[in-house]
Amino acid sequence: MHDTVITSKEKNYRSTVDWRMKVLVLFGTRPEAIKLAPVIHELRKKFFQTVVVSSSQHKHLLTPFLASLEIDVDFDLGVMKRNQSPSDVCSRVMSKLDKILALEKPDLILVQGDTTTTLAGALAGFYRKIPVGHVEAGLRSGNLMSPYPEEMNRRVVSQIASFHFAATEKNRRNLLAEDVPSEKIFVTGNPVVDAMKHMLKNLDVSPEIAELIKKTEGKKRLLLTTHRRESFGSTMTTNLKVLRDFVDKRPNVCLFFPVHPNPNVKGIAKEILGKRERIYLLDPLDYSDFLAIMRSAWLIVSDSGGVQEEAPSLGKPLLVMRENTERPEAIRSGVSKLIGNSPGSLKQMLEENYSVETWIKSVKEVANPFGDGRSAARIVRVIEEKLAAKDRAAKADQGKLF
Ligand code: UDP
Repeated sequence: MHDTVITSKEKNYRSTVDWRMKVLVLFGTRPEAIKLAPVIHELRKKFFQTVVVSSSQHKHLLTPFLASLEIDVDFDLGVMKRNQSPSDVCSRVMSKLDKILALEKPDLILVQGDTTTTLAGALAGFYRKIPVGHVEAGLRSGNLMSPYPEEMNRRVVSQIASFHFAATEKNRRNLLAEDVPSEKIFVTGNPVVDAMKHMLKNLDVSPEIAELIKKTEGKKRLLLTTHRRESFGSTMTTNLKVLRDFVDKRPNVCLFFPVHPNPNVKGIAKEILGKRERIYLLDPLDYSDFLAIMRSAWLIVSDSGGVQEEAPSLGKPLLVMRENTERPEAIRSGVSKLIGNSPGSLKQMLEENYSVETWIKSVKEVANPFGDGRSAARIVRVIEEKLAAKDRAAKADQGKLF
């Protein structure tokens, strides 16, 4: 594995003889790490041997997170490059991961969500005939081009996975509609709620963010995140200009924007929103700081998937800056509204909800439709049962997971 960096020493647990089966957990982006961290901790609690692999698909966003999530990476595939294409990422993750699979021979590969790392991990597992567990299975927008390439990624992963950990009943129904066998689907909730609850209990806000929140006391704080590939270019330009003009005209409104490091976002954010009064362009925030800002927001505008899952627990109104969503549960809970793809709708929704705050004020903390904070325990219970069954079957020389 000459081109793979081993970032942590062999851990003591690796040599402990009574550790149970081995689960390789793969992630490459910030949301995957947030959502898989509770599962990794639960696996260890239940005495599984874990092999944690990062593709570093989004290295700069991911690395600062790992310490606060208390996750050590065993293998870093280091695939991050500027302006890389999904094909580039997919092929490099597959070939580098394959060597680790050959070396580690895990009993299960766990992937999360719909990134290209997720797809590559599932495919690499399939080629080595290693069963794959898919966390956050069954999300569907119904449009292969939005989110792009995520909608295709997750559909293909559903063809490969042996265990589908769906967050909601709706996600389970989506999988059944694609002929995924019901006995392979487990409605567990989404571990993002576990991660968020844990983080909120131990919120460690940096002095800079605490100061910013203090400084903007009494203002209506808008929180913006945007990074989706399908919004790059004219859609993003239009949306940022709408937000700039909205803030410009209203002295009691301010905007916080932790800017995604993707050059397609960074450049345009600086150009349109840079050096403006009451507009704060921030570096990507660690999870504690981001949750603190979310909690202090008057309104959130975002195209993020994770933010749609978090908003219900915080009772924060969210305008989903996308033409569709695979998370209609948040809309049904009354917490979020979809902007859609008509050109003037962001402006209109911002103005309407500023002049009549009925919806904004009505949004309260609700039972989170995506999970109750115990998803990791459910996922690991299923893994325990299935791997024990596989072990028994193997001993009886008739093991089959595919
Ligand atoms: N997030 C964060 N810091 C930030 C922006 C987002 O910790 O500066 C968290 C957010 O709470 C959510 C996740 O990152 O859990 C969302 O990541 P992102 O929007 O990159 O991906 P998506 O959820 O759209 O896949």
